[in-house]
Amino acid sequence: MREIMTGRDIGNRINFCGHGTHSARYPWPDETVVSAGEGVVIRRDPKPGEPASYTTLFMEVYPPAATFIRSEGTTPQGCEDSAWSQYRLTLECADGSGSHDWETRGHRNGAGYCSRCGTFISQVFTGEQLGQFCRICGTGTTYHWDTDKVAGTTTFLCEEDYKAHKPARHPSHDRSLAQLLGELLDEDS
Ligand SMILES: [Zn+2]
Ligand SMILES: [Zn+2]
Repeated sequence: MREIMTGRDIGNRINFCGHGTHSARYPWPDETVVSAGEGVVIRRDPKPGEPASYTTLFMEVYPPAATFIRSEGTTPQGCEDSAWSQYRLTLECADGSGSHDWETRGHRNGAGYCSRCGTFISQVFTGEQLGQFCRICGTGTTYHWDTDKVAGTTTFLCEEDYKAHKPARHPSHDRSLAQLLGELLDEDS
């Protein structure tokens, strides 16, 4: 495994900053990047009587061919158990069917979530697959879009056409020399 900050090869020795070093029990691929320690988690929606935040041990892993996995636990081994079962779920999902079952969940930027295992990856979908075509050149794109809430329509621009048709600077920023001189004279009087 590799340490997240330095990229250093740490074998199976995961440093749980301040909570000792944990020897990983499972055969994580060598290229897995890991970060672990103690952290504060802010609850987005605390239930009545529940504190707004809590402190927990955590482990974050970025295994090759899977996405970011985060686990929490009361012990380093608990963190690793949970992370490993999430990782297995991801691998078995992809192995079983040849691929994940991607859905957009409303994202237009090409990102996809697997409906079975929850894996999230950017750039799963192309503009063509999403039915998003540049309003100028007609190529499929996930680069830029504008939604007209009143009309309920969305239009798309590819990267090239977005850069060529960027909105112009607001006119009020472009003051003429005559205006500036006028303002200076006003201040003096
Ligand atoms: Zn999946
Ligand atoms: Zn275009």
